[in-house]
Amino acid sequence: METTPKRYLVTSALPYANGPLHIGHLAGSYLPADIYVRYQRAQKRDVKFICGSDEHGVPITIRAMKEGVTPQEVVDKYHKMLKYAFEQMSISFDIYSRTSSKVHHETAATFFKKLYNDNLFEEKETEQFYDEKAKTFLADRYITGTCPVCQNPGAYGDQCEKCGSSLSPEQLINPRSTLSDAVPVKKKTKHWYFPLQNYEAWLRQWILQEHTEWKSNVYGQCKSWLDQGLQSRAMTRDSNWGVKVPLEDAEGKVLYVWFDAPIGYISATKELTAQWADYWCKEDTKLIHFIGKDNIVFHCIIFPAMLKAHGNFVLPDNVPANEFLNLEGEKISTSRNWAVWVHEFVNDFPGCEDVLRYVLCSNAPETKDNDFTWKSFQDANNSELVNIFGNFVNRTFVLMHKLCNGKVPKFHNDIIDDTDKSLINTIQNSKSKIENSIEEFKFREALFEVIDLARSGNKYLQEKEPWKKTKQSTDNEQPTIEAQFQIDNCIHICLQLCANLAIYINPFLPSTAKKMCYMMKVVDKMLEWENAGKTKLLSVGYSLRPPELLFRKIQDEEIETQITKLKTASEEKSAQSSVENSQTNKNMEQNIDNKIQTQEENNPLVTDNQHQDKYSDGSDQTTEISKPEITFDDFAKLDLRIGTITTAEKVEKADKLLKLEVDLGYEKRTIVSGIAQHFTPENLVNTQVIVVANLAPHKMRGILSEGMILTAEEPGGKLILVNPDSLTKNGSSVR
Ligand SMILES: [Zn+2]
Repeated sequence: METTPKRYLVTSALPYANGPLHIGHLAGSYLPADIYVRYQRAQKRDVKFICGSDEHGVPITIRAMKEGVTPQEVVDKYHKMLKYAFEQMSISFDIYSRTSSKVHHETAATFFKKLYNDNLFEEKETEQFYDEKAKTFLADRYITGTCPVCQNPGAYGDQCEKCGSSLSPEQLINPRSTLSDAVPVKKKTKHWYFPLQNYEAWLRQWILQEHTEWKSNVYGQCKSWLDQGLQSRAMTRDSNWGVKVPLEDAEGKVLYVWFDAPIGYISATKELTAQWADYWCKEDTKLIHFIGKDNIVFHCIIFPAMLKAHGNFVLPDNVPANEFLNLEGEKISTSRNWAVWVHEFVNDFPGCEDVLRYVLCSNAPETKDNDFTWKSFQDANNSELVNIFGNFVNRTFVLMHKLCNGKVPKFHNDIIDDTDKSLINTIQNSKSKIENSIEEFKFREALFEVIDLARSGNKYLQEKEPWKKTKQSTDNEQPTIEAQFQIDNCIHICLQLCANLAIYINPFLPSTAKKMCYMMKVVDKMLEWENAGKTKLLSVGYSLRPPELLFRKIQDEEIETQITKLKTASEEKSAQSSVENSQTNKNMEQNIDNKIQTQEENNPLVTDNQHQDKYSDGSDQTTEISKPEITFDDFAKLDLRIGTITTAEKVEKADKLLKLEVDLGYEKRTIVSGIAQHFTPENLVNTQVIVVANLAPHKMRGILSEGMILTAEEPGGKLILVNPDSLTKNGSSVR
């Protein structure tokens, strides 16, 4: 059924407008999409590149409340920042819109209304906390009161930030609404659920049978979601910030942010072109969503099911999601300020945007999580861009000016040798290799091929040594005619290779390609893909400009400065956090959407993969996503139980270990735990803990340990016991 697409519609995940852009975002869904789109444009194909800010959802309303501004002011600020950062990095969207736009509100509401009219939603009533003064339902975070554990008067309805207890609003003493100070009351509320299970059979067929070509990380995640079984999901929320639910009895309700955000792709296309329907409704469109791995379920399962239900729109042809990019061996974390921010990079390394693009692509997390280090950034720049690519172009231009009067020399077919032929072949063959890799979303491979081509150029120059040919001729005089012919051929081929390199590097490093065009005095039209592989791109006798350095060496000091900056910023942030606990704050904000969802329906789709719901902040890859995904069956193998520590003592000659007796109700266990540096034994007695009860017994310091207790590790390494939020019967199982 593979037909040649008539047009391409390429989208990048809508970034969430409550924080700036970092390199993890870029590497995940923006740079790969931009490379792909620039390549398609060079192919002169009809392509539209769509993106915009995602501006709805609870985290934004909370940030607004905290900063004492309106949600609109929050999104205005970050929308501007994001847009600017993309421009700085030459991400060439055809439109960068936003979901607070009027067109989007209309489009999303109409979409919802269509599904509603077609009777595709389920209506369900649940009980939620309500503020009678402010006349609004309250997310848990909007409820504050006294912590039942530590008596902190400022605990939130989902967590006490002083003692770290996780709470529900019911547990707070003197609960109050943060909006009006009213006592929250429970009230029934109605929401509209989208029954994903009705689309399960179709999704299985569409993804698992018909899209086996999807990247294995994407296909695998889809399969695991589908194997767990799909359930109804609430597509509306009680809130005043978002797209209003377009129904009469839906006052104070908005569309769930994950319902409206992907529709943002459609809205933005509408804003871009009057022909938007060609892109969204005609079967010969190829729709491709570039995203990070945290968004796979939304783009591969929920949004396609919505599109299918609606019926008028094309479905994505591919969803080439990337894995995560780590930084210096750790997860990128907005809350810990462990990130390289794009706006800061641009400031610190002016004119080096292409270098960042290069490093992020050559090291892209295409198939697995990858690591960005400042050292590898420096190495890639100095040894690949400067020493291989830049060096070849520079040598060619210097030699051309020195040996060929600054003009493209003639090519003498009669004296062509095997070395020349081999390089010409390499230039011609590289086209299909690079092209195929890009078409298959293997951008690293394609970029490697480009650098390898430049490497071949250097090798060729090294073998030919045109600079020696003059010296062989008598005393610096004119070289012999034959020697000059050899020089001409060598420089001619090298210049044609430079022209090819400009075409090939253009999707990846557009500013570099532009500089090369300037040096070669050619117009951008030369960069069109149909010229790739050709060896007559620069005309004989044409005079070219003197060389400009394409890349500069990056010094050790610059790298050291960045590493110090990263560490200092991160330490400052954690020092600040220990005072204000803003860290947990941020993490909580991002989980609020999930929490609402979880409470409403206790949907395994959400609880088992909670972090994936976080949206957008593909950014905030804090600690929770550090392990590979497991199936529900894997999780079910754990026997977790509530137990009470009855005795605790230090283990002799082991300053980290404590020997604990734990009562599991049905039996008592001895557990050796490496927590001695964090707790005094006396304080642990009579404390409830969660025990991994079916861990194989093992000996530590001669003591048989029969299980393990769960602790949480704070970023500074401090351990906290994980325990039930109220006294629980020993032996109760934890699921
Ligand atoms: Zn507390």
